[in-house]
Amino acid sequence: MKVVLKNLTKRFPSRDKKHPEDVIAVNDFDFTIPDGKLIGLLGPSGCGKSTTLNLISGLEKPTSGQIFFGEDDVTKLPPENRGIGLVFQNYALYPHLTVRQNILFPLQNLKGDAKMSKQQMETAALNVAKLVQIDGLMQRKPSELSGGQQQRVAIARALVKMPKVLLLDEPLSNLDARLRLQTREEIRRIQKETGITTIFVTHDQEEAMSICDLIVVMKDGVVNQIGAPQEVYDSPENLFVAKFLGTPPINVFEGRVKNGRVYIGEEDVLSAEGLTDGDVYVTVRPEGFKAESDGVLSLDLERIEVMGRDVSVIAHHTKSLNADIRAIISSDISLDTGLSKVRFNLNPKKVFIFDKTTEKRLK
Ligand code: ADP
Ligand code: MG
Repeated sequence: MKVVLKNLTKRFPSRDKKHPEDVIAVNDFDFTIPDGKLIGLLGPSGCGKSTTLNLISGLEKPTSGQIFFGEDDVTKLPPENRGIGLVFQNYALYPHLTVRQNILFPLQNLKGDAKMSKQQMETAALNVAKLVQIDGLMQRKPSELSGGQQQRVAIARALVKMPKVLLLDEPLSNLDARLRLQTREEIRRIQKETGITTIFVTHDQEEAMSICDLIVVMKDGVVNQIGAPQEVYDSPENLFVAKFLGTPPINVFEGRVKNGRVYIGEEDVLSAEGLTDGDVYVTVRPEGFKAESDGVLSLDLERIEVMGRDVSVIAHHTKSLNADIRAIISSDISLDTGLSKVRFNLNPKKVFIFDKTTEKRLK
């Protein structure tokens, strides 16, 4: 089921006397979430991710705009009539019920045509339990499960009615690092197997990048960019998006465009054909540096970190806005750690230039 947001806006009245203007949690969202895809709403805390999800689920009413599921306008429908499944950060299972009873719960109050026989309910519950691989735990209480298992039960409960749209709000945040990795792969697998349109909220760019078909990068209630993860990483439209995606983060330098060339300090580092002269930010992905003796950019070497396959060169430069510049280079290259300076050429595909005032990408 595709989900269409049309000029969707949500304002909250301010509770802060010093800033009496409304908070615009969701500002004129206008995009389509394609059918059968896993899409990530991604942005820092407070950017409006949960509010967007709550508008789609019907838990919140929009200030203006519309929501369509397929061709149907659902803006005024209550949550229970939208055919959605919801999973939150805290698993919110019923503690006194077993896993089986928790999963059965949403099926027990179905009315009219949707009403199921006992046998049908048991079959449906067992099928989703198998899907999320907890069918061996059906008689346990939530307190007898690990965090990861509890979250699987929550996902099973959200799926048992076969929702048209599955909404996940930071579902991995309460899990430890290893389980988080494993469970995100599980979410990807379950989404692929069921083909249910899934909207996945996270503030963790790596999480979103690793499993989503599409990401919506948000800041302060505004959509900054929508695209496939790699596409957004390789072609960020503004400085915020460039900085938000990628670990280690992108390196930002103050620079200047003059006569078709890009300068960092006095060094002419790259061609800037077609760009107007002026102050810019020059940003370089960590993998965009090539250590070469004839390198165009000279950095002050701080130290070198060898981490298995990768070598990180930590360096400084007076025009760098990052406290540490990080260049990731191949471990095949041997650098003289006794040097105080190291020279780099830049891979133009890994360098993005942004206008200093608008912070928009210059291409
Ligand atoms: P996120 O999930 O991305 O962290 P939220 O959607 O929860 O962000 O919040 C977006 C903005 O809306 C924040 O500034 C938050 O303080 C504000 N907000 C959210 N819910 C309410 C509410 N019920 N009343 C007032 N302000 C709210
Ligand atoms: Mg939230």
